[in-house]
Amino acid sequence: MRQKLVAGNWKMNGSKASIKELLNGIKQGIGDVQSAEVAVCPPFVYLGEVEAQLSGTPIVWGAQNLSTEEKGAFTGEVAASMINDFGCKYVIVGHSERRSLYGEDDALVAKKYSVARAAGLKPILCIGETLEEREKGVTNDVVARQIAAVIELEGVAALADGVIAYEPVWAIGTGKTASPEQAQEVHKFIREQIAAQDASVAQKVQILYGGSMNAANAAELLAQEDIDGGLIGGASLKAEDFLTICRAAG
Ligand code: PEP
Repeated sequence: MRQKLVAGNWKMNGSKASIKELLNGIKQGIGDVQSAEVAVCPPFVYLGEVEAQLSGTPIVWGAQNLSTEEKGAFTGEVAASMINDFGCKYVIVGHSERRSLYGEDDALVAKKYSVARAAGLKPILCIGETLEEREKGVTNDVVARQIAAVIELEGVAALADGVIAYEPVWAIGTGKTASPEQAQEVHKFIREQIAAQDASVAQKVQILYGGSMNAANAAELLAQEDIDGGLIGGASLKAEDFLTICRAAG
């Protein structure tokens, strides 16, 4: 049985005050979450605050991005060692906003996966098709290509050290969720693709769904056989909504 994981991607939202309130709310309700692991991914500048507030609780945390470089003259970048320094367990790589707004391609995302893994962080590898790609019927090709980039660089076993988040781009922040059947179909395909190379890795790897998952639709999505949790954007900014999703995960 794979443990479910619910990870909140706060994106570029929050302030010292709002984050304090949000974390207090999550901490108060976390006792009702039975078995799922709960993670939050704040903007870099709040990692220290999150570490201070969540140390000693069952909630874990991560970063939203990392540099491929170790250290040095890379103004504005943040290294894996720094993310580790703040007690992060996870780091998101290849979010569709990084891919589309900052030109991150499959090769760069694979490199980030590799650097995170080498630093002992668990990368959350985001993959997913655009609306145009779905309408063209190439969803499976797109997700297969995005995973293949990591396998080519790191080998299939490396996938067991991370988490995959299937996030159809057309569902992110749009309020349009993939139906449970649509999501399950792609999750199953992803697992089969991995199984074709290594069945035990495929059984082990957690595949999260992301894309307008919310308190109302989470239970149905999370009940699908190959959906092992959620990567949550908008709904992770309200403690009650986020906790409802976490409780739905078990
Ligand atoms: C995300 O950014 O990873 C995401 C899934 O966002 P939202 O839940 O807001 O669609």
